Amino acid sequence: MSVWQGLAGQERAVAQLCRSIERGRVPHALLFSGPPGAPLVDAANALAMALSCQRAPGLGCDADPASRDTGDADDRGMCLACAKIASGIHPDVVTLVREGAAQIVPIESVRSQVIARIGFPPHEGPIRVFIVEEATALAPPAANALLKTLEEPPGYTLFVLCTTAPDQLLPTIRSRCQRVRFAAGGALPGDADAERAARVAGLGAELAGDAHDSSLPVRIAEVKGDCAPVLVAAARALHARAHAAAGAGDLDIARRAGSRAQTILSWHIPVAIHNANPQLAIEALIAQLRDLPEVGAP
Ligand SMILES: [Zn+2]
Repeated sequence: MSVWQGLAGQERAVAQLCRSIERGRVPHALLFSGPPGAPLVDAANALAMALSCQRAPGLGCDADPASRDTGDADDRGMCLACAKIASGIHPDVVTLVREGAAQIVPIESVRSQVIARIGFPPHEGPIRVFIVEEATALAPPAANALLKTLEEPPGYTLFVLCTTAPDQLLPTIRSRCQRVRFAAGGALPGDADAERAARVAGLGAELAGDAHDSSLPVRIAEVKGDCAPVLVAAARALHARAHAAAGAGDLDIARRAGSRAQTILSWHIPVAIHNANPQLAIEALIAQLRDLPEVGAP
Protein backbone atom coordinates (compact mmCIF):
# COMPACT_ATOMS: atom_id res chain seq x y z
CA MET A 1 0.00 0.00 0.00
CA SER A 2 1.32 3.42 -0.79
CA VAL A 3 0.25 6.99 -1.10
CA TRP A 4 -0.30 6.46 -4.84
CA GLN A 5 -3.22 4.07 -4.27
CA GLY A 6 -5.69 6.94 -4.43
CA LEU A 7 -4.67 7.83 -7.99
CA ALA A 8 -6.61 5.21 -9.90
CA GLY A 9 -6.20 5.40 -13.67
CA GLN A 10 -2.94 7.36 -13.46
CA GLU A 11 -0.57 4.40 -13.65
CA ARG A 12 1.68 5.94 -16.31
CA ALA A 13 2.25 9.23 -14.49
CA VAL A 14 2.69 7.43 -11.17
CA ALA A 15 5.23 5.02 -12.69
CA GLN A 16 7.20 7.96 -14.07
CA LEU A 17 7.25 9.66 -10.66
CA CYS A 18 8.13 6.46 -8.80
CA ARG A 19 11.03 5.81 -11.19
CA SER A 20 12.55 9.22 -10.55
CA ILE A 21 12.11 8.76 -6.78
CA GLU A 22 13.77 5.31 -6.91
CA ARG A 23 16.70 6.71 -8.84
CA GLY A 24 16.96 9.65 -6.47
CA ARG A 25 16.53 11.95 -9.42
CA VAL A 26 13.40 13.95 -8.85
CA PRO A 27 13.88 17.15 -10.89
CA HIS A 28 13.56 20.44 -9.04
CA ALA A 29 10.63 21.52 -11.21
CA LEU A 30 7.77 19.39 -12.52
CA LEU A 31 4.87 20.33 -14.74
CA PHE A 32 1.79 18.20 -14.07
CA SER A 33 -0.61 18.51 -16.98
CA GLY A 34 -3.90 16.81 -17.75
CA PRO A 35 -7.49 17.42 -18.84
CA PRO A 36 -9.88 19.27 -16.49
CA GLY A 37 -10.72 16.99 -13.58
CA ALA A 38 -7.36 15.20 -13.62
CA PRO A 39 -6.14 14.84 -10.02
CA LEU A 40 -3.09 17.08 -10.49
CA VAL A 41 -3.00 18.71 -7.06
CA ASP A 42 -3.79 15.37 -5.37
CA ALA A 43 -0.85 13.86 -7.24
CA ALA A 44 1.38 16.77 -6.19
CA ASN A 45 0.39 16.18 -2.55
CA ALA A 46 1.00 12.45 -2.95
CA LEU A 47 4.49 13.21 -4.28
CA ALA A 48 5.12 15.55 -1.34
CA MET A 49 4.03 12.75 1.03
CA ALA A 50 6.28 10.22 -0.67
CA LEU A 51 9.27 12.56 -0.37
CA SER A 52 8.53 13.74 3.19
CA CYS A 53 7.23 10.51 4.75
CA GLN A 54 8.87 9.57 8.04
CA ARG A 55 7.76 5.96 8.00
CA ALA A 56 7.98 4.81 4.37
CA PRO A 57 10.38 7.23 2.63
CA GLY A 58 9.83 7.23 -1.12
CA LEU A 59 6.42 5.58 -0.75
CA GLY A 60 4.44 7.72 1.65
CA CYS A 61 1.73 6.53 4.02
CA ASP A 62 -1.47 5.19 2.55
CA ALA A 63 -4.15 7.86 2.48
CA ASP A 64 -7.00 5.52 1.68
CA PRO A 65 -8.90 4.64 4.87
CA ALA A 66 -10.55 1.63 3.24
CA SER A 67 -7.24 -0.18 2.77
CA ARG A 68 -6.09 0.34 6.34
CA ASP A 69 -8.04 -2.55 7.80
CA THR A 70 -5.61 -5.05 6.37
CA GLY A 71 -2.01 -5.62 7.31
CA ASP A 72 -0.28 -5.36 10.65
CA ALA A 73 -0.64 -2.44 13.03
CA ASP A 74 2.37 -0.59 11.64
CA ASP A 75 0.84 -0.60 8.21
CA ARG A 76 -2.16 1.44 9.27
CA GLY A 77 -2.68 5.16 9.38
CA MET A 78 -0.30 7.92 8.48
CA CYS A 79 2.90 9.29 9.98
CA LEU A 80 2.77 12.86 11.26
CA ALA A 81 4.37 14.28 8.10
CA CYS A 82 1.88 12.56 5.79
CA ALA A 83 -1.05 13.45 8.06
CA LYS A 84 -0.01 17.11 8.03
CA ILE A 85 0.30 17.12 4.24
CA ALA A 86 -3.06 15.35 3.86
CA SER A 87 -4.72 17.98 6.05
CA GLY A 88 -2.92 20.88 4.37
CA ILE A 89 -0.96 22.08 7.42
CA HIS A 90 2.59 20.88 6.69
CA PRO A 91 4.83 23.97 6.90
CA ASP A 92 7.08 22.73 4.09
CA VAL A 93 4.33 22.04 1.58
CA VAL A 94 3.09 25.35 0.24
CA THR A 95 0.24 25.57 -2.25
CA LEU A 96 -0.26 28.74 -4.28
CA VAL A 97 -3.97 29.07 -5.01
CA ARG A 98 -6.03 31.35 -7.22
CA GLU A 99 -7.41 34.38 -5.41
CA GLY A 100 -10.03 37.09 -5.76
CA ALA A 101 -12.62 37.74 -8.41
CA ALA A 102 -10.00 37.43 -11.18
CA GLN A 103 -8.97 33.99 -9.91
CA ILE A 104 -5.26 34.68 -10.39
CA VAL A 105 -2.18 33.84 -8.36
CA PRO A 106 -0.90 37.36 -7.54
CA ILE A 107 2.71 38.45 -7.36
CA GLU A 108 2.23 39.01 -3.59
CA SER A 109 1.66 35.27 -3.12
CA VAL A 110 4.87 34.42 -4.95
CA ARG A 111 6.78 37.02 -2.88
CA SER A 112 5.40 36.09 0.53
CA GLN A 113 5.05 32.34 0.09
CA VAL A 114 7.95 31.44 -2.22
CA ILE A 115 10.66 34.10 -2.40
CA ALA A 116 10.53 34.91 1.33
CA ARG A 117 11.06 31.24 2.24
CA ILE A 118 13.24 29.83 -0.47
CA GLY A 119 16.56 30.90 1.10
CA PHE A 120 15.86 28.95 4.28
CA PRO A 121 15.97 25.18 4.65
CA PRO A 122 12.68 23.34 5.25
CA HIS A 123 11.32 23.41 8.83
CA GLU A 124 10.43 19.77 9.34
CA GLY A 125 11.07 17.53 6.37
CA PRO A 126 13.93 16.89 3.97
CA ILE A 127 12.32 18.96 1.23
CA ARG A 128 10.14 22.01 0.65
CA VAL A 129 7.46 21.58 -2.00
CA PHE A 130 5.79 24.49 -3.73
CA ILE A 131 2.61 23.51 -5.55
CA VAL A 132 0.96 25.91 -8.00
CA GLU A 133 -2.70 24.89 -8.27
CA GLU A 134 -3.07 26.26 -11.84
CA ALA A 135 0.09 27.61 -13.41
CA THR A 136 -1.71 29.54 -16.17
CA ALA A 137 -3.40 31.59 -13.41
CA LEU A 138 -0.07 33.12 -12.40
CA ALA A 139 -0.33 36.85 -13.11
CA PRO A 140 2.47 37.88 -15.53
CA PRO A 141 4.61 39.55 -12.81
CA ALA A 142 4.08 36.46 -10.62
CA ALA A 143 5.17 34.18 -13.46
CA ASN A 144 8.29 36.28 -14.03
CA ALA A 145 9.19 36.27 -10.33
CA LEU A 146 8.71 32.51 -10.22
CA LEU A 147 10.82 32.08 -13.34
CA LYS A 148 13.84 33.56 -11.58
CA THR A 149 13.54 31.15 -8.68
CA LEU A 150 12.96 28.23 -11.07
CA GLU A 151 16.34 28.87 -12.67
CA GLU A 152 18.45 27.88 -9.71
CA PRO A 153 16.47 26.82 -6.66
CA PRO A 154 18.28 25.41 -3.59
CA GLY A 155 18.66 21.62 -3.55
CA TYR A 156 15.92 21.04 -0.97
CA THR A 157 13.27 22.65 -3.17
CA LEU A 158 10.69 21.09 -5.47
CA PHE A 159 8.22 23.01 -7.62
CA VAL A 160 5.13 21.27 -8.93
CA LEU A 161 3.24 23.40 -11.43
CA CYS A 162 -0.19 22.02 -12.26
CA THR A 163 -2.13 23.03 -15.34
CA THR A 164 -4.92 21.94 -17.64
CA ALA A 165 -3.59 24.21 -20.43
CA PRO A 166 0.17 23.70 -20.68
CA ASP A 167 0.28 25.38 -24.11
CA GLN A 168 -0.74 28.67 -22.54
CA LEU A 169 2.30 28.78 -20.26
CA LEU A 170 5.34 30.91 -20.98
CA PRO A 171 7.72 28.71 -23.00
CA THR A 172 10.48 29.72 -20.58
CA ILE A 173 8.50 28.19 -17.71
CA ARG A 174 7.64 25.05 -19.67
CA SER A 175 11.26 24.49 -20.65
CA ARG A 176 12.42 24.59 -17.02
CA CYS A 177 10.05 21.86 -15.89
CA GLN A 178 9.94 18.15 -16.53
CA ARG A 179 6.53 17.26 -17.87
CA VAL A 180 4.31 14.58 -16.29
CA ARG A 181 1.11 13.88 -18.19
CA PHE A 182 -2.03 12.77 -16.39
CA ALA A 183 -5.17 11.15 -17.74
CA ALA A 184 -8.70 12.42 -17.11
CA GLY A 185 -10.07 12.00 -13.56
CA GLY A 186 -9.70 8.52 -12.11
CA ALA A 187 -12.42 5.97 -11.65
CA LEU A 188 -15.38 7.30 -9.72
CA PRO A 189 -15.56 5.88 -6.23
CA GLY A 190 -18.21 3.19 -5.71
CA ASP A 191 -21.29 3.92 -3.64
CA ALA A 192 -19.81 2.26 -0.58
CA ASP A 193 -16.67 4.41 -0.79
CA ALA A 194 -18.72 7.56 -1.33
CA GLU A 195 -20.94 6.72 1.63
CA ARG A 196 -17.96 6.12 3.85
CA ALA A 197 -16.27 9.33 2.72
CA ALA A 198 -19.46 11.28 3.46
CA ARG A 199 -19.66 9.68 6.91
CA VAL A 200 -16.04 10.59 7.68
CA ALA A 201 -16.53 14.17 6.44
CA GLY A 202 -19.73 14.58 8.49
CA LEU A 203 -18.13 13.31 11.70
CA GLY A 204 -15.05 15.46 11.00
CA ALA A 205 -17.21 18.56 10.69
CA GLU A 206 -18.93 17.71 13.99
CA LEU A 207 -15.59 17.25 15.73
CA ALA A 208 -14.34 20.54 14.27
CA GLY A 209 -17.27 22.40 15.84
CA ASP A 210 -17.18 24.07 19.25
CA ALA A 211 -19.79 21.89 20.96
CA HIS A 212 -19.88 18.09 20.88
CA ASP A 213 -22.79 15.74 21.24
CA SER A 214 -22.11 13.15 23.94
CA SER A 215 -22.69 10.34 21.44
CA LEU A 216 -19.91 11.55 19.13
CA PRO A 217 -17.06 9.34 20.51
CA VAL A 218 -19.20 6.20 20.14
CA ARG A 219 -20.30 7.15 16.63
CA ILE A 220 -16.72 7.85 15.51
CA ALA A 221 -15.50 4.55 16.97
CA GLU A 222 -18.35 2.62 15.34
CA VAL A 223 -16.59 1.86 12.05
CA LYS A 224 -13.18 0.28 12.41
CA GLY A 225 -10.41 2.37 10.86
CA ASP A 226 -12.48 5.56 10.53
CA CYS A 227 -11.20 7.39 13.61
CA ALA A 228 -7.88 8.57 12.09
CA PRO A 229 -9.52 9.87 8.87
CA VAL A 230 -12.12 11.69 10.99
CA LEU A 231 -9.30 13.41 12.91
CA VAL A 232 -7.70 14.48 9.62
CA ALA A 233 -11.06 15.71 8.25
CA ALA A 234 -11.70 17.76 11.41
CA ALA A 235 -8.19 19.27 11.35
CA ARG A 236 -8.60 20.07 7.68
CA ALA A 237 -11.95 21.81 8.27
CA LEU A 238 -10.45 23.92 11.06
CA HIS A 239 -7.41 24.72 8.97
CA ALA A 240 -9.65 25.97 6.15
CA ARG A 241 -11.48 28.08 8.72
CA ALA A 242 -8.15 29.49 10.01
CA HIS A 243 -7.01 30.25 6.47
CA ALA A 244 -10.25 32.08 5.63
CA ALA A 245 -10.16 34.04 8.91
CA ALA A 246 -6.51 35.02 8.37
CA GLY A 247 -7.38 36.14 4.84
CA ALA A 248 -10.15 38.33 6.28
CA GLY A 249 -7.71 39.80 8.82
CA ASP A 250 -9.35 38.10 11.79
CA LEU A 251 -6.17 36.76 13.37
CA ASP A 252 -7.80 35.91 16.69
CA ILE A 253 -10.21 33.45 15.09
CA ALA A 254 -7.42 32.12 12.87
CA ARG A 255 -5.29 31.43 15.95
CA ARG A 256 -8.13 29.69 17.80
CA ALA A 257 -9.01 27.49 14.83
CA GLY A 258 -5.32 26.69 14.31
CA SER A 259 -4.77 25.62 17.89
CA ARG A 260 -7.87 23.40 17.86
CA ALA A 261 -6.61 21.80 14.63
CA GLN A 262 -3.20 21.13 16.24
CA THR A 263 -4.82 19.55 19.30
CA ILE A 264 -6.97 17.30 17.10
CA LEU A 265 -4.01 16.24 14.99
CA SER A 266 -1.94 15.43 18.09
CA TRP A 267 -4.23 12.40 18.52
CA HIS A 268 -3.53 11.08 15.04
CA ILE A 269 -0.38 9.13 15.93
CA PRO A 270 -1.82 7.51 19.08
CA VAL A 271 -4.87 6.38 17.09
CA ALA A 272 -3.36 5.56 13.70
CA ILE A 273 -0.03 4.09 14.73
CA HIS A 274 -0.30 3.04 18.37
CA ASN A 275 -3.86 1.72 18.03
CA ALA A 276 -5.25 3.77 20.90
CA ASN A 277 -8.86 2.87 21.67
CA PRO A 278 -10.77 5.25 19.34
CA GLN A 279 -13.64 5.95 21.71
CA LEU A 280 -11.38 6.75 24.67
CA ALA A 281 -9.09 8.82 22.46
CA ILE A 282 -11.98 10.95 21.17
CA GLU A 283 -13.33 11.35 24.71
CA ALA A 284 -9.92 12.58 25.89
CA LEU A 285 -9.60 14.84 22.86
CA ILE A 286 -13.02 16.40 23.46
CA ALA A 287 -12.04 17.07 27.08
CA GLN A 288 -8.93 18.88 25.81
CA LEU A 289 -10.94 20.87 23.27
CA ARG A 290 -13.31 21.99 26.03
CA ASP A 291 -10.37 23.86 27.63
CA LEU A 292 -9.53 25.74 24.43
CA PRO A 293 -11.21 28.99 23.39
CA GLU A 294 -14.14 28.47 21.05
CA VAL A 295 -13.86 29.53 17.42
CA GLY A 296 -17.47 30.67 17.11
CA ALA A 297 -19.96 30.15 14.30
CA PRO A 298 -18.63 30.86 10.79
ZN1 LIG B 1 4.14 8.95 6.03
